[in-house]
Amino acid sequence: MTFSERLYLPQVIGGMFRTLKHLTKNLFNIKGLPTISYPEVKRVYSERFRGRHILTSREDGTTRCVACYMCSTACPAECITIEAGEDQRTREKFPVRYDIDLLRCVFCGYCVDACPEDAIYMTRDYEMAIDTRARAVVGLRDLVVPPNFPVGPMGWRPYYGAIEKHGTAGGTGIGQPLRTAPYEDDAPPNPDLYRGA
Ligand code: SF4
Ligand code: SF4
Repeated sequence: MTFSERLYLPQVIGGMFRTLKHLTKNLFNIKGLPTISYPEVKRVYSERFRGRHILTSREDGTTRCVACYMCSTACPAECITIEAGEDQRTREKFPVRYDIDLLRCVFCGYCVDACPEDAIYMTRDYEMAIDTRARAVVGLRDLVVPPNFPVGPMGWRPYYGAIEKHGTAGGTGIGQPLRTAPYEDDAPPNPDLYRGA
């Protein structure tokens, strides 16, 4: 290299001019910037976006899940842990424990596809920030939604025909209550469930 090339000054000055050029251009075209002011502004995600899971309920308040283990069997990440209980009157099974380790989940949607009871859906809720690994394990109290919870605008779900959906920005969809995710209190509810990295 020549002496001037070894100084790298032309390259440094050229780089600074390029940065200045982009800065000036963006200053006069703020609306055209690709960045958004999250969380005030949220991007519109696909109607089939696979976000945080929910477990739906019947009208009498019982969970639709019958603890059949189909979802945990289909799960490639082995992140669903279910313990089944049995209703002594009806002999129907139900989950006494249903945990999903969201740090292991790869959000593939296989659990939703496998469910014969239409019990587990994946919402468009992508806001799952946590501060400990234990909090990544969500249980029944985080997953079960009330009866008549509007599932029409949900993300990934079994497709049984025409479902009226609307493009919405983030969250869990139009008109749906935003659920506090993943826990309302400070105490990790299932710290003993953490199975390590
Ligand atoms: S989305 Fe996929 S990885 Fe996540 S719990 Fe369901 S089956 Fe398992
Ligand atoms: S496949 Fe559906 S009904 Fe069966 S355990 Fe999973 S969520 Fe419950």
